[in-house]
Amino acid sequence: MDLGIAGRTALVTGASSGLGLACAQALAADGVRVALAARSHERLAAAAQAVDGEPVTITTDLSRPEQIDDLVSAALDALGDIDILIANAGGPPPGNFASTGLDAYPDALQLNLLSTVALCKALIPPMQRRGWGRVVAITSVSVRQPIDQLILSNTARAGLTAFLKTTATEVAPDGVTVNTVQPGLHATARLGQLYDDLDAVAANVPTRRLGDPADFGRVVAFVCSEAARSITGASIPVDGGAARGLQ
Ligand code: NAD
Repeated sequence: MDLGIAGRTALVTGASSGLGLACAQALAADGVRVALAARSHERLAAAAQAVDGEPVTITTDLSRPEQIDDLVSAALDALGDIDILIANAGGPPPGNFASTGLDAYPDALQLNLLSTVALCKALIPPMQRRGWGRVVAITSVSVRQPIDQLILSNTARAGLTAFLKTTATEVAPDGVTVNTVQPGLHATARLGQLYDDLDAVAANVPTRRLGDPADFGRVVAFVCSEAARSITGASIPVDGGAARGLQ
């Protein structure tokens, strides 16, 4: 299927591994020029080898608010306009209500909520002026069904979903769509950090397997396609049927 986005440009954050890298790969496979952003220059350089075209790499730490302006400037310098933003980062540390101190919340909110707000504030207005744009944030299926030991993630991602849903309505008349894609359990480094026995984890997923990051990337690329121009304000689970609620 031709996604109709060849020649477009994308900034993908958290793109040196896992789901972010898979999104960059899927977009580049459809002819999108991509900038990959993450913390480590070395890991980004290795990741870029696996991405079609001539991807640009940008070193940034999304947990540091003062670095966002430099990230945006570097991406604009490299690509000109940015048509597509894939907002992603690592997840915050695990913990529950009792084990998580108040002082842990600001860092989690910066990494998984405010960094995306800042990127949207910088990149959506030019998309509106050009009459075309796509924003996709990678959140979590925990927005539908909070995960007991991930209270920081649950909290930040629910807030981000509300921010993006509100924004989606406001910018829809200008040709800009804003969506979230919610991973369930995918075979990435993050999952290996959270769980010891991945076979046991997979056995509890209705599809009886962990998600393939490449499949996830292709779903995100479709959300960025021309054909998906009427999909906005949506939160799309890619979770093997793990979330049991009706919505
Ligand atoms: P991952 O650890 O494989 O990749 C995370 C990426 O973000 C890496 O490129 C890493 O370098 C980058 N990153 C981390 N901290 C950063 C920072 N401060 N600044 C800039 N870049 C940073 O993780 P993943 O499995 O691909 O997950 C991506 C997102 O999806 C995470 O937020 C994760 O919590 C969430 N998620 C993943 C799953 C899953 O099953 N893998 C499930 C639910 C939610």
